[in-house]
Amino acid sequence: MECIFCKIVKGEIPSKKVNENEKFLAFHDINPIAPIHILIIPKEHYEKFDNTPNEIFNEMASFIKDTAKKLGISDYRLITNNGKGAGQEVFHLHIHMVANPNGTLKWPKLV
Ligand code: 5GP
Ligand code: ZN
Repeated sequence: MECIFCKIVKGEIPSKKVNENEKFLAFHDINPIAPIHILIIPKEHYEKFDNTPNEIFNEMASFIKDTAKKLGISDYRLITNNGKGAGQEVFHLHIHMVANPNGTLKWPKLV
C-alpha cells in the first residue's frame, strides 16, 4: 500500500498546499502544534532523514527558505523525526516547519 504522503503528492488525498515545485511540496499539517505548522516533503519517497541522499538537502533547503518567504515569516523552527523512537509516524521524509508569528515558540521538555 502506498504511503499517505505519496497519495498527497498525487492528489489522491487533499492537502492545503503552500508551496510546490517539480521536486518538493509544502502543505499544512492536519493537526497543527503551532499557529503555523507546515510539512515539507520531497515528492520522491524516502523513508526518513537517514535514508535520504545528502544531495536532496541542498535543493530542499532552498525550497524551505522559499516556503518561509511565501508564508511571510522570518522566524521558524525546523524539525524532522528520524525513526519511531524519535516520534516519526509517517514514514515519508518530512520536515516540520513551525512558527508563531505573533510571539515566540517555547522549547518544550520532550521526555
Ligand atoms: P511525524 O510524527 O511522522 O513526524 O509527523 C507526521 C505528521 O503528519 C503529524 O504532524 C500529522 O499531524 C501529520 N499528518 C498525518 N496525516 C496527515 C494527512 O493526511 N494530512 C496532513 N496534512 N497531515 C497529516
Ligand atoms: Zn511516500
